[in-house]
Amino acid sequence: MRLSQFHLHTEKETPAEAEIASHRLMLKAGMLRRLAAGLYTWSPLGLRVLRKVEAIVREEMDRAGALELLMPTIQPKELWEETGRWQKFGGQLLKIRDRKDAEYCYAPTAEEVITDFARNELASYKQLPLNFYQVQTKFRDEIRPRFGVMRAREFLMKDAYSFDIDAAGMQRSYEAMHAAYVRIFTRLGLRFRAVQADSGAIGGDASQEFHVLADSGEDAIAFSTGSDYAANIEAAQAAQPGPRPAAAEELRKVDTPTQKTCADVAALMGIDLSRTAKSIALVGADADGNDQFVLALVRGDHDANEIKLAKVEGLAGYRMATEAEILAHLGSEPGFLGPVAPKQPIRVLADREVAAMADFVVGANEPGFHLAGVNWGRDLPEPDHVADIRDVVEGDRAADGGELRIVRGIEVGHVFQLGSKYAEAMGCTVLDEQGKPRVLQMGCYGIGISRIVAAAIEQNFDANGILWPDAMAPWRVAVCVINPKRDDAVSAAAEALYRELSDAGIETVLDDRGLRPGQMFADIELIGIPHRVVVSGRGLEAGTFEYRARNAEESENLDRETLLARLRQPKS
Ligand code: ATP
Ligand code: MG
Repeated sequence: MRLSQFHLHTEKETPAEAEIASHRLMLKAGMLRRLAAGLYTWSPLGLRVLRKVEAIVREEMDRAGALELLMPTIQPKELWEETGRWQKFGGQLLKIRDRKDAEYCYAPTAEEVITDFARNELASYKQLPLNFYQVQTKFRDEIRPRFGVMRAREFLMKDAYSFDIDAAGMQRSYEAMHAAYVRIFTRLGLRFRAVQADSGAIGGDASQEFHVLADSGEDAIAFSTGSDYAANIEAAQAAQPGPRPAAAEELRKVDTPTQKTCADVAALMGIDLSRTAKSIALVGADADGNDQFVLALVRGDHDANEIKLAKVEGLAGYRMATEAEILAHLGSEPGFLGPVAPKQPIRVLADREVAAMADFVVGANEPGFHLAGVNWGRDLPEPDHVADIRDVVEGDRAADGGELRIVRGIEVGHVFQLGSKYAEAMGCTVLDEQGKPRVLQMGCYGIGISRIVAAAIEQNFDANGILWPDAMAPWRVAVCVINPKRDDAVSAAAEALYRELSDAGIETVLDDRGLRPGQMFADIELIGIPHRVVVSGRGLEAGTFEYRARNAEESENLDRETLLARLRQPKS
């Protein structure tokens, strides 16, 4: 490609709306243009990168034996009603009507459509296993679209769905996809980690996310120094706490006139925050579906984990208690709540760590007071329920004996064992070896292709712009011509080099725009071309080209042979 014939439109100014590096650099480099909230046009430059990612994903899916198909982006309501997701999917589902008033949604994902396809196509176990995938636009009406294509409303996803006759088959299909994902992110040249994920309300089924590691990531990931254990903070667990020590202190009331948080109380008393427990008033449902008041306790230095809470019996779909409910059950306004001597009987849910505490501090259920020296079994009954309901923190002991560390990540892929959830709801069966109908076991596997482009930049940029890994770069090499209009020999030499590199299968762009060198180099650095070669009159006289890798401090003068050898071997 000759840049004089390309549409490159870089910006000098830093766009005000961009909060993170990838968003800023994609706009500055002219890869993206915003159309409306969460909707972007990919320019020819941006699209070159997107297609690189897509091609690698496709190659590895094909290599893993998955079969590509293409499903519509518009899906009929009736299919979504079969699984109950027309209601359950919530506000992210964009619902639309056609001229006959029939209802549809714009695909946020395609489990229903693929299961419908499978139930119509498949008749016998002999046709299995099968894995169908597509690379197709998705729409999710995100509450807060942000960071450009990182969390867009319309985005490009690869979604795959496996069909097996039994759970062992599903497990094999899942592992094949896991291995394919490792290959994909390795080939893309990204630093990534596969982590255990929360598998949602279905429970039990395995699910892993692939995260590109970057400080700007929206997710927190915990990993152990003792093994390869890694999990999204939503699901991460620390080791079981040790046994509860014996009570050593007497129960006493402490004057805390204005101290409404554990931190303030601990500061006042001059004790460590980990000696306090905070009380969180929740409303769940009992076995009959009636409101049930629950007091959840986590250590003062810990945070409750919403996803873990919702997994506790009776707390699926819980909400926070209102002030009136708190007053009725505990007799105190928020700020001084505690599990000791509530006004009405309440269910007490203790985090594992809190259940293992002795001589701790809680609210006294009386404005202006806390209780210290509190002990289970003596000052209040043993908790009704003990569970892991907190976020792990840096330095926690891991189950394998190591320590937990926390880093940030960007979720770029998700592999999930669905089991029979969709096949059951939609009657997707085949005849098994005995000739009996059997509900199929499914897996689903997503990759955010457009998100990967942004995530890669978050990992690879400097003050001057993007540093693409070779595999994702719009072009691997830029040949920059100094004064092409003034110097015919220079132009001819650059042209010859450009042809030679292109003929050798090295993707090269010729910067023949005739810009001043400073401007030209700034553009080439901004758009992240990994290898730059400068052709100048001076170099020609010396018989050399000036070569510089995007991530190198210095340039080198190389003769033609050395240059070609250098560029031929992909560096990554
Ligand atoms: P997130 O937690 O980030 O919202 P998700 O769990 O909703 O992601 P999946 O339903 O597993 O995502 O979708 C598969 C992949 O699609 C994700 O791993 C992610 O890479 C990508 N993806 C999901 N939502 C978006 C979005 N709004 N914009 C861009 N990519 C997205
Ligand atoms: Mg989401």
